Amino acid sequence: MSFDIIKGMATTLKNMTRKPTTISYPEEERELPPRFRGRHVLHRYDNDLERCVGCYLCAGACPADAIYIEAEENTDENRVSAGERYARVFDVNMLRCIFCGYCQAACPTGAITLESNYKLASFHAADLVFHKEQLLEPHGQSTVGSNEAWAEKPPEEVAQPIPQETHVFDGASASAAAVGLGNYPTERDVLLTDQEQDEDRRKL
Ligand code: SF4
Ligand code: SF4
Repeated sequence: MSFDIIKGMATTLKNMTRKPTTISYPEEERELPPRFRGRHVLHRYDNDLERCVGCYLCAGACPADAIYIEAEENTDENRVSAGERYARVFDVNMLRCIFCGYCQAACPTGAITLESNYKLASFHAADLVFHKEQLLEPHGQSTVGSNEAWAEKPPEEVAQPIPQETHVFDGASASAAAVGLGNYPTERDVLLTDQEQDEDRRKL
């Protein structure tokens, strides 16, 4: 028996006693980390108004051109969001998305987050363009999503260039300050979970 065969059998025997690193998906699923970036969710305030104010910052920040928005003015008869405008159309093309999270980082109102849904496969390309109706939290639901997990400040050396904090995004002045926040009163006056960060935004 050649040495190579003995070596191969030894490797096999060694690994037979080890716990497998694979799991039997879909019967079993792994627990995902809190900052996992899966499919997007659009959030609401406690009073059911949509957080998205149709500012296009997420679409502008997206390196893959995956977000398509058509904004419309709120009126007294039809108030949808807490700002001057709301997103009448909000599409995210998952065939383009690279799950970088820039859209979430760029959003001044915490309206869009990447969440834990990763089951996005389909035989039809059209299924992978998610529309606002699919992305938006249902009426009566109001969460901040993974913004909570991201509120904790990362170490300086790995910090993302978040425009709300640095006023600069990828080297260019951010327009978050110009767009501002929603100007319509909401029941939840704290946008995110980080009070200090929230107050900092309101000064912009
Ligand atoms: S995660 Fe990145 S690529 Fe995907 S929509 Fe957001 S900004 Fe675009
Ligand atoms: S950045 Fe936020 S508020 Fe602005 S359009 Fe995108 S999701 Fe809506």
